[in-house]
Amino acid sequence: MTSKPITYRGRFAPSPTGPLHFGSLVAALGSYLDARAVGGQWLVRMEDLDPPREVPGAAAEILHSLELLGLHWDEAVMYQSQRANAYAEVLDNLLRADRAYPCACSRKEIETTLANTDALVYPGTCRNGLAAGRTPRSVRTRVEELNIAFHDAIQGPYAQQLDREVGDFVIRRADGLMAYQLAVIVDDAAQGITHVVRGSDLLDSTPRQIFLQQQLDYVTPDYAHLPLAVNAEGVKLSKQTRAPAIDIHRPSRAMWAALRFLGQDPPVELADVPAADLLSWANEHWERSAVPSQRTLHTQHDSAASGLTAPAGGIE
Ligand code: GLU
Repeated sequence: MTSKPITYRGRFAPSPTGPLHFGSLVAALGSYLDARAVGGQWLVRMEDLDPPREVPGAAAEILHSLELLGLHWDEAVMYQSQRANAYAEVLDNLLRADRAYPCACSRKEIETTLANTDALVYPGTCRNGLAAGRTPRSVRTRVEELNIAFHDAIQGPYAQQLDREVGDFVIRRADGLMAYQLAVIVDDAAQGITHVVRGSDLLDSTPRQIFLQQQLDYVTPDYAHLPLAVNAEGVKLSKQTRAPAIDIHRPSRAMWAALRFLGQDPPVELADVPAADLLSWANEHWERSAVPSQRTLHTQHDSAASGLTAPAGGIE
């Protein structure tokens, strides 16, 4: 018997900078449901690419929370910390094809140039080779005069004139670490990801990622950017803004609030049932078209993490 090929491979790609909080739960749940609702696969990739920002134990804690929520993933978790060779190979190919170049500029030097000229983005100082005596620090891509446009499944049409709005961007950082923009597309390709569902803070990174995919002849996945959970000051919920970890002792409370945030309409009596029951309701009722298209949405983060608070209203 032949089975229908699976045409949906989604993923959740947290950075282990702290435990799962309401904002990361929204991304986990949105990507999970969007995949499972069509019988697709859902993978988890730990984006532990930046050791100075990581918190020991956070990766294991995130995975444990996903398990308690019943968000079971397919295949082994991919760890970016184990992917250095893959990134180095791609970087090397880009350098050899002259699609990337070493850059000697420090952040301070670039800021000074931007302050003293009309340039709005990195002005390409090292594009044609390093001046004598300069030491390479980072590696940048060579961005052509190019408009990158795509249709986001939630946010609608989005475009960036890459040369004017972004400029040659860093793909290996001065500290030797691979930049997120490169690692994410190498790994999305390696994992065969067909659909990327994530927070809207990454909407404006997407044209850079599509550009790199084109440079490397990778397939561009479909993108859907979920509203980003922000606190009363309009700032993304994160470890830095001290978003509380979700209450893993009452996983369905947190999941119920995240479903409401995603525009779904879970019956109130499902807020206190076992997480598996709420999740099976969510699987059956997932409506991507009900997800609000605002880039950011307020949430009262203290109570949203553990209580039944719906988003207080949206802002663009
Ligand atoms: N690791 C990124 C984050 O936690 C997400 C990357 C992605 O989904 O492309 O914000």
